[in-house]
Amino acid sequence: MAGRKVVLVTGGGRGIGAAVVRLAAAAGWDVAFTYASNSTRAEETAAAARAAGAEVLAIQADVADAASTASAFAAVDQRFGRLDALVNNAGITGPRGTLAETPDAVWEKVLATNVTGAARCCREALKRIPAGGAIVNVSSRAAGLGGGGEWIHYAASKGAMDTLTIGLAKEAAAQGVRVNAVSPGLIDTELHAAAGMPDRVAKFGGSVPLGRGGTAEEVAEGVLWLLTDAARYVTGANIHVSGGR
Ligand code: NAP
Repeated sequence: MAGRKVVLVTGGGRGIGAAVVRLAAAAGWDVAFTYASNSTRAEETAAAARAAGAEVLAIQADVADAASTASAFAAVDQRFGRLDALVNNAGITGPRGTLAETPDAVWEKVLATNVTGAARCCREALKRIPAGGAIVNVSSRAAGLGGGGEWIHYAASKGAMDTLTIGLAKEAAAQGVRVNAVSPGLIDTELHAAAGMPDRVAKFGGSVPLGRGGTAEEVAEGVLWLLTDAARYVTGANIHVSGGR
């Protein structure tokens, strides 16, 4: 299909998702993105993407909720009439805590958001994305590191996302759609403060092999590459954007 391509980014109001929205707009995509509740930040991100020449649709939608997700996809259909790519970026860590300290309710919320929510978005996206399109799942190096002492619930959810990526890459190849993951390491966003560790990047940045925490833009560069034709022979891959962590 000719014309500007459309990408849907979940959790695009702030942080890594917002960097993907801005970079995609600058690279010539039209962009739809969801956010949970922070409409001020979502509007700032939308304005930046519009200034880069993109048509932009910001949608308040809870990725953990089936009806809300269905409405978000319907809004994309109505506004753009096409969808070429999905970036499954919305994710939460839940509060910091050991396994012993973490109740079922935290596990359920984290898994509903990071795993079921992402899988549901993949299912909806694959009804729409034509051959040549792509899905990128924003996972985490926590999946490989395990999150012990901090958030096993979060790490395990990202392990599930990694498996989703491998399996779905095989299924979606039949329709010509590539499915890959990007696994960020320690990235300077508000996610750490939300988990009760505002100084986490400053505290642990020095222990990263490349000597520092990363930026949302550095992760977004990896996501954008996977969306483009330059990555046309890449599927089922998991790119660590983690400074060696
Ligand atoms: P962030 O700064 O906390 O931003 C999260 C974004 O997702 C916000 O726009 C938020 O909306 C949205 N969101 C949260 N829950 C949502 C829900 N239920 N439905 C829809 N949107 C929702 O997080 P980030 O650091 O950019 O993280 C983005 C992704 O990267 C996540 O999947 C995270 O696990 C992954 N990651 C991050 C790091 C890191 O060090 N930062 C490392 C590895 C992986 P509001 O603005 O409305 O709240």
